[in-house]
Amino acid sequence: MLNRGPICAFSGCKFVAQRVVGDCTDCGQSFCSTHRLLESHSCSALKNIEAKAKAENAAKLINNATKKASKIDRDLEWCMKFIEEKKL
Ligand SMILES: [Zn+2]
Ligand SMILES: [Zn+2]
Repeated sequence: MLNRGPICAFSGCKFVAQRVVGDCTDCGQSFCSTHRLLESHSCSALKNIEAKAKAENAAKLINNATKKASKIDRDLEWCMKFIEEKKL
């Protein structure tokens, strides 16, 4: 077998990895010209970026929901107090 340098790290790909430009700075693996982009080799860093974005989005939603819920709680509390005062 001829030593043609490293093979693309993409699973099942038999192409020779490109030097420098084929190196993914995010996952540290070497890829051919077809798979060198983050999206093309479904880079683990890309998943982390997506997961991070999703987590941040979820955190925002939860934060908003909690804010709304606490406002309802306060309103409810006020109503209960009002009812109790009227009874007295
Ligand atoms: Zn490849
Ligand atoms: Zn990568």
